[in-house]
Amino acid sequence: MRIGIHRFSLKSVSLVIKVNSMMEEMTEISYSRTRSGELYEEAKQYFPGGVDSPVRAFKSVIGPPVFMKKGDGARVWDEDDNEYIDFCCSWGPLIHGHNPRSVAEAIHRTVDLGTSFGTPTIYGLELGKLLNANIPFLEKLRFVSSGTEAVMSAIRLARGYTSRSKILKFDGCYHGHVDSLLVNAGSGLVTFGVSSSAGIPESFAAETLVVPLDDETALKVAFDVYGHEIAAVIIEPVPANNGLLLQRPEFLTYLRKICTDFGVLLIFDEVISGFRIGFTGAAGHYGIEPDLVTYGKIIGGGMPVGAYGGRREIMGQVSPDGPVYQAGTLSGNPVAMAAGKAALSMCLNPEFYVNLEKLTADFCEDINAFADEYGYDFSMPHIGSIFWPCFSKQTIRNASQIDASSMELFKKFHFFLLQRGIYFGPSGYEVGFVSAAHDASILEEASEKIKMALDHIYQNEEL
Ligand SMILES: *Cc1c(COP(=O)(O)O)cnc(C)c1O
Repeated sequence: MRIGIHRFSLKSVSLVIKVNSMMEEMTEISYSRTRSGELYEEAKQYFPGGVDSPVRAFKSVIGPPVFMKKGDGARVWDEDDNEYIDFCCSWGPLIHGHNPRSVAEAIHRTVDLGTSFGTPTIYGLELGKLLNANIPFLEKLRFVSSGTEAVMSAIRLARGYTSRSKILKFDGCYHGHVDSLLVNAGSGLVTFGVSSSAGIPESFAAETLVVPLDDETALKVAFDVYGHEIAAVIIEPVPANNGLLLQRPEFLTYLRKICTDFGVLLIFDEVISGFRIGFTGAAGHYGIEPDLVTYGKIIGGGMPVGAYGGRREIMGQVSPDGPVYQAGTLSGNPVAMAAGKAALSMCLNPEFYVNLEKLTADFCEDINAFADEYGYDFSMPHIGSIFWPCFSKQTIRNASQIDASSMELFKKFHFFLLQRGIYFGPSGYEVGFVSAAHDASILEEASEKIKMALDHIYQNEEL
C-alpha cells in the first residue's frame, strides 16, 4: 500500500497521514521491551553503564538497550521475544548472518576436543595457510584476540622496525582503544593529538599526529615537517566507524606514495573492511599494498580473533624471531581458529562478494531513489556490504563534514525502526551491515519500513 502511494506520487499530507495510520494497523508496532529494561537496571549495578562496551548502552538513542538472546540468519530475538531484522550483525563479524551451519558445526567439532591448549594447533595453521594463500601481501601473520590488540601490536612493530616513535592517524578513523590512538585532532590542519579519554598521558598523545582525511595538502605538510620521525601511518582505508567516509582512490594512492618516499610504514587497519570489501579487503579493492595490515571482526567467524601481518621482513621483528615482544595466552584459540576458517572458506566462493555487493547496492539505491523523489535530505552511501544511514545527501569524506545535529534525526529513525522489528546499531555514527543471510525479500521488508521511517521523520509525525 505504501508503494502505491509513492508510485502515484500522491503527496497530499492529509492523505499520507490517513494512509500511514492504516499502515500502522498493518505493521506491528506493539514492541515492548519490559524484560530488557529490567535486565538493564540490574546490569547497571554490576557493570559500568550496565554494559561491556560503551555504545551498547543506547546513550545516543531512545529506550533501554535490547538484550538479545538468539540469532538465526538475518534475524535476532530479544528477551521479550521481539523479532528483528539485524543490520548490526555483531558490529560486522557476522558476514554469513547468525549461526551459519558450517561455522556452528566447526565450533562444535572443535570444542568437543577441548577449548584451549596453549600450544600450536592445526586449526591456527589451517587458517593461517588459507589467509596466506589468498592475500598476496600477507607473507606472515600473528593471531591475537581482538582488533584493538592487533592494532596495538602492529604499532609497536612499526616503531620497533623503523626505530622511530611518531604515528600519524586520521581524524574520523577508529582503531580500537589503543592508548596512542585514542586522540582527537587539535585545532589546525596538522596537530599532535589531544587525549580523547581520561587515563592517557598527554605525553602519549603527543607522539600521535592527527590530520584530516581526504586532504593531500595536510598530509604533505605533516610529512614535510615530521616525515623522518614517523614510524607508521595508520588508516582505515574504508573509514567505517564514524559514518562511512569513502575516500578518493587518488588520496589513498598519494598516501601510499608519500609513505614509501619517507620510509614510513603504511598500516591498513582492515578490522572492519577486511573480508567485507572482498576477501582482500580495501587493499584489494583499491589495488594498494600496505606494509602491515590488521584484521578482526569477520576473521574469527563470530569468535574473538584479531590478526596483524604483512611483509616477511617486517614480521621477522616479532618475538621470538625478533626483538618486538608480543604474546597472548588464548591467541590462536583452536575453537576460534576453526570458526574463522569455516567462515572465511565460505567467503572464497567466487560469487560470494559479487552477490552480497549487488544485494546491498540494490537495497541502498532503492532507498536513495525514494529519498530523492520525496526531497528527503537522506542517503545511504555504501561499499561492498557496508552502508550508512546518513541524514544528508552530501558526499561526506571527512569527519568534520558530519552535521552533529543530524543525529537527532537518527534517534527518531532508530526508535521508529526498533519498534517495527529492524535493529540498527544504536548510534548515527555507526554503519549497517548486510550479510549473506539478508536475501532480497528480507531487504525488501526492511526497505519498506525504512521508507515509512523517513516519511514519519520528514513529515514530523509522532513516532
Ligand atoms: C572494530 C574495530 C577495531 C577494534 O576492534 P575490537 O575487536 O573491537 O578491539 C579497530 N579498528 C577498526 C577499523 C575497527 O572497526
